[in-house]
Amino acid sequence: MKTQRRAFFKYVAKHLPDASLSDIVRIERAYDFAKKAHDTQTRANGDPYFEGHCVPVAMHVLDLGMDSTLVCAALLHDTIEDTAITYTDIYEGFGAEIALLVEGVSKLGKLKYHGNERHVESLRKFFVSVAQDVRVVILKLADRWHNLETMNYLPAEKQKRIALESIMIHAPLASRLGMGKLVTTINDLAFPYAYPAEYERTRKLMESKLKKAEGTIKKMYRGMLVTMSVSLGYTPQIDKRVKGTYSLYKKLERKHWNDDGVFDLVAFRVITTSVADCYSALGAVHNHWRPVPGRVKDYIAVPKPNGYQSLHTAIFSGDGPIVEVQFRTAEMHEFNEYGVASHHSYKNYQLQRGVHKETFAWIEQLREFQNADISPNDYLKRLRTDFFQDRIFVFTPKGDVIDLPFGATILDFAYAVHTQIGEHANGGKINGKYMALKSTLHSEDIVEIESNHKAIRVISGSKCVSLQPLRDVFGAI
Ligand code: MN
Repeated sequence: MKTQRRAFFKYVAKHLPDASLSDIVRIERAYDFAKKAHDTQTRANGDPYFEGHCVPVAMHVLDLGMDSTLVCAALLHDTIEDTAITYTDIYEGFGAEIALLVEGVSKLGKLKYHGNERHVESLRKFFVSVAQDVRVVILKLADRWHNLETMNYLPAEKQKRIALESIMIHAPLASRLGMGKLVTTINDLAFPYAYPAEYERTRKLMESKLKKAEGTIKKMYRGMLVTMSVSLGYTPQIDKRVKGTYSLYKKLERKHWNDDGVFDLVAFRVITTSVADCYSALGAVHNHWRPVPGRVKDYIAVPKPNGYQSLHTAIFSGDGPIVEVQFRTAEMHEFNEYGVASHHSYKNYQLQRGVHKETFAWIEQLREFQNADISPNDYLKRLRTDFFQDRIFVFTPKGDVIDLPFGATILDFAYAVHTQIGEHANGGKINGKYMALKSTLHSEDIVEIESNHKAIRVISGSKCVSLQPLRDVFGAI
């Protein structure tokens, strides 16, 4: 699967109809530059590396609603890591912004999830702090999306590691950025590799349920179109959406595989032209089909923390399953699917609306911007992650990431890994060099703890006063 130059530039034109000539010329330069850099490289399936990977990643960046700057960065995204090209080369050819994006995504390439669930949240945060600019995270997500699509040639062990990492790290980050569609895409691509048996079980259950419901769903769809047209005075767009396999699996697990509680296997999405129409369409649906009591959720009045807005209900379909119906305006829909950084969303919509009222903590600074009078471009540039400047991220020798406050010491690190390790620590190494326990750590340090299992630390207040042999504390064993 490779994409040729012409097809790619057609795709660019379709997705960026407002791009200026100089934008297009810059994309062409990035294309030729990166193609030459990856010249002799091939992928595991034998395709040329550039057309087989870099170009599809740039197309995914367009799918995610990003601009021409990020398209250039996507074409160049593996040059620093995989070719002789350096940061300076990109800086000189394409300027600081694109060079920083490419450098950022190269750094993220080095982070790996090693299966320690305790440190997952730190790894996510570290991911974002290294990224500096939220567009680096988005670029990495587009890269991962394409990697997941082309995993069949990789050895099984690598497939599993990448799949688990994607579910633990990448999908949750996409979720916090409000990129709902990408969350489903990443999880569903990774699921069969990450948990093959559970995937098979879920897929079979889903297939049989959908097959049984097929006729009813079709009939409901037609009925819904008529009901909506009559009550709204126009025919809204109604999408039928089938729940993602991975998200169904998570729900089934929570319900101990009792599938009676799954109400949203099939959902209808009604896209209206105004907020008022969302509520009147809900009324019309309830008038026509019996609602399941207690299932109305008003995420328009109270958006989800990542900004998601929609009005949900569940209705009895008669002879078939319970069906969820969602109502939202076209703007809400764009935002729910593409998230905070998409140019579809941020320009017209999210800056004016209070969608980030309860936004996720680590992009909390967005709040400051939503009322500020700044241009969409500045908005994206300011969407940085330097609110992490009061945190440092250090590694265990195995590569797990520990999230600590600025100024933390080796001893703080030891306690953060585990209380036991803190209590038994009697020395430590920073980047391979022995240092005192009170030595201050810096981001990206690799820290190793020397522990004395025969001794326990005696804590007085928050200060460690001495290391005593265990038998002094517990008596001779
Ligand atoms: Mn890549």
